[in-house]
Amino acid sequence: MIPSRLNFRLEAVATGSRARAATFRTLHNEVRTPLFMPVGTQATVKAQLTRTLEDAGSQILLANTYHLLLRPGPEVFRHIGGIHNFMSWDRSVLTDSGGFQIFSLPHSRSMSEAGAAFQSYLDGRTILLSPELSIETQKAIGSDIMMALDQCIPSTADEAAARAALGITQRWAARSLAARGDSPQSMFAIVQGALFPDLRRESAAGLCEMPFDGFAIGGLAVGESKSEREDMCEFTAQLLPADRPRYLMGVGTPLDILEAVHRGVDMFDCIMPTQLAQRGAAFTSRGFLQLRRGVYKFSQEKLDPECACPTCARYSRAYLHHLTKTGETLGWQLIGKHNIHFYHRLMREIRQSILEDRFMELYREKRAFLHEPDADNPSRPQKPKRKKSLALGAYEVHTAPEGFASIRHIPSGEIMHSRTPPIEEARGLYVEQSNLAERLRLAPDTIAEPLVIWDVGLGAGANAMAAIEAYEAEAAAGPVRPLHIISFENDLDSLRLAVRHSDKFLYLRHGGPAGILSDGAWQSRTFPGLSWTLVQGDFLATMAAAPAPPDLIFYDMFSSKTSAEQWTAVAFHRLFHACASRSVELFTYTCSTSIRVALLAAGFFVAKGRSTGEKLETTIALTPAACLADKGCRHELLAADWLAKWHRSGAKFPAEIHVDEHPSFEQRIREHRQFQVR
Ligand SMILES: [Zn+2]
Repeated sequence: MIPSRLNFRLEAVATGSRARAATFRTLHNEVRTPLFMPVGTQATVKAQLTRTLEDAGSQILLANTYHLLLRPGPEVFRHIGGIHNFMSWDRSVLTDSGGFQIFSLPHSRSMSEAGAAFQSYLDGRTILLSPELSIETQKAIGSDIMMALDQCIPSTADEAAARAALGITQRWAARSLAARGDSPQSMFAIVQGALFPDLRRESAAGLCEMPFDGFAIGGLAVGESKSEREDMCEFTAQLLPADRPRYLMGVGTPLDILEAVHRGVDMFDCIMPTQLAQRGAAFTSRGFLQLRRGVYKFSQEKLDPECACPTCARYSRAYLHHLTKTGETLGWQLIGKHNIHFYHRLMREIRQSILEDRFMELYREKRAFLHEPDADNPSRPQKPKRKKSLALGAYEVHTAPEGFASIRHIPSGEIMHSRTPPIEEARGLYVEQSNLAERLRLAPDTIAEPLVIWDVGLGAGANAMAAIEAYEAEAAAGPVRPLHIISFENDLDSLRLAVRHSDKFLYLRHGGPAGILSDGAWQSRTFPGLSWTLVQGDFLATMAAAPAPPDLIFYDMFSSKTSAEQWTAVAFHRLFHACASRSVELFTYTCSTSIRVALLAAGFFVAKGRSTGEKLETTIALTPAACLADKGCRHELLAADWLAKWHRSGAKFPAEIHVDEHPSFEQRIREHRQFQVR
């Protein structure tokens, strides 16, 4: 093992996630992760006292080498004895390499193997920032953690540009290490490679061979989409050694940080808490507040009722609103103080949940509210011209009185999941009932055929995403068999609409739905065993074209009122034959008697499914192989009492069965093996 200057100790990894808790020791203090580093560009976190930062729980501050190189200059740090003494801060400091700032100046720089030349914005002189000068400056500043100079490029760069940057970054990393010499300061390298997995792999492999004390994921948060960033962050984090800290540079909002912790990252920095404070914006447990808004003019409430920071202890929203409106520096300072508290508290909560192994619970709960605007004083709807349309094709976004969103089919008025949030219903009705997690688990070193789910009626993707979520949780915890989800859908507008409003359908914030919409297929980069295919068209017509027969069927079509032909005995008969002699379980939300009869008539065994928000019962259909297996059926099959009730029922026969056929149909049901066994 390559020795490290940080004595990094991994304490816990959350179940169902890659989230980790660890400690390490810098030259100044013991550091607990995951952690957030406030940004002190000019050796000051804007408008904050170092005392305040200590009280808030800041463990490391980030300072910018580029700015400090120009002013006050390394000679001042050498004279005073380093940044800690200079700014009166006795915990850790991390300095960036200066590269990022220089690459953000497109017009006044030039690049070569030697380094990046740029013109000082102070006096116009040209400076060559070489790896050696960057490290020499960082040594003078005296940071606990230095960053190797890298060549930053936009994450959306083409492959040739990304490859060239990779080569230079690799050589500069070696020069940076050599320039450190025997300094006790730690040094992190930065993995580049834009959005190309092969280049990320190559970059990580090259850098991990060198004795760096930690690794940063660079080149993200500069132009890519959120889901691309999350995918690549997770992919890159897994390439890094488990015994070194992982740092995602420049990220981000509280929600971005939560997502990245889930993907295995330990350290973050962002200017947001103080920058937004200057504009009067605050992160709170009641949502994201814009204190400029007139709704706070008379508000005597605390900024955040759940916060114990000095701002919340003492000042009202009305006062902070006033300070913001008048541009008073105190408003910036007070809100900044609160925002930094908010970030640190979130990180402590995350860390505690990892140590107590309930991170996934916290993740789900926080993810639902962290992006929310002020929950108590929602803004009026935006002006129509700026508003994303709530309708697309035959669908519109419907908001339930409880506040969650679902998709409504306009012509029929039918709402997909009207009483329970779509993803919750999907988890309960399809994923949990089918025992998916257990079916996926695999003894070590065994190989199994992929488990195939037919997701009939993709809709807004909730069932497929609930299955993907379950797979990712299991795969993160141990060996699993591959999972292939095959979704059937004839109209993708409902998914398109929901993706467009992913702020209301958070479960869609994932690479999968985007892949399905653009390519009709998606393959997880993180979990190679996970794939998702779309079969477009009418289910009954396309069933035969499915790439594989099912093990599980999630049958979630619009109801028989809207799409009658999908619920007939004939349709189920064809489905039964598509299952051939396999062991297949089908789950559906209905408990309609005529649909149960249609399933029985098709040859399925029929059992009671669990209740949902809407219905006391749902329905499970099983092929004989699933029902008569050695272990027996683990579901509660409909029995004689149901048969008796059916006999008295008014809706006894599926509508398409002709009156003349009723007697023979009834006999067929009565003689079904389901009612003969036992
Ligand atoms: Zn506060």
